[in-house]
Amino acid sequence: MRTCPNCGNSRYKEKIREESFVIVSCNDCGLVYLLNPPDEKEIYEDYYKIEFTKDDYRSDSDVEMLNEIYEINNQRVKLIKTLAGKKDFTLLDIGCGSGLFLKSCANAGFNVSGIDVSKNALKFAKESFGLNVDNKKISNLAAEGKKFDIITMWHVLEHVLNPIEELKQIMEILNENGVLLIEVPNFNSIKFRLSGYKWKGGNHPLYHRSFFTSKTLKDTFRKSGFNNIEQLRFTYELGTKSFLYNLTKKIFNVFSADAFLDFAARKNSI
Ligand SMILES: [Zn+2]
Repeated sequence: MRTCPNCGNSRYKEKIREESFVIVSCNDCGLVYLLNPPDEKEIYEDYYKIEFTKDDYRSDSDVEMLNEIYEINNQRVKLIKTLAGKKDFTLLDIGCGSGLFLKSCANAGFNVSGIDVSKNALKFAKESFGLNVDNKKISNLAAEGKKFDIITMWHVLEHVLNPIEELKQIMEILNENGVLLIEVPNFNSIKFRLSGYKWKGGNHPLYHRSFFTSKTLKDTFRKSGFNNIEQLRFTYELGTKSFLYNLTKKIFNVFSADAFLDFAARKNSI
């Protein structure tokens, strides 16, 4: 059985049981984590093999979803422009997948690159969008001496077995005053609670290893050595949704109860 990846404690309270998976909260630091993660290699073998083709985005429901993704990515691009504080900067997207986010960044004129575990997704990103993406790990980039001004990680940290180790590695490839931007599902979200923790965007124990709240994510950042950590009170304004929907999200966000948590952490900032 696994000890808490945030503080090493082995005392916990059981929170959720999902098939054979046991999700617990640490008695010491409060992090909610998967107690019995399956063998990574076995699980991710299939994950890596998912084929990406242009035909994946043909049905009407996919088009609607794609439009939402474009809207979200354009708002992320705007946010990054504000956070970067300068015109020329380098951006790395960790877990870039098929490259939709990087494509929006490239359209905005950013100098972008990405890494991912899925070779099929990377092939799609290269062939469809001509992006500079690689099947590399953070440690490979560190060994090559690569550094970036902005690093983004959308829905990645909840997948890794050791988030602190991951964030420490990221620190190595971040320029002085560089910014790390992270989004993860929110364990304290209304969506999660009202669904009886069945919300698939958050509760996916086959792939998710940590279930962060605003408090535990901040704690993980601190333990990784980041000292300027800001929770972004930022919700995506979706034109496809009603005014009431967008307003409700904003209100939930104030109480850290929106579906997702967004954080920016700076390295050695003044
Ligand atoms: Zn703990």
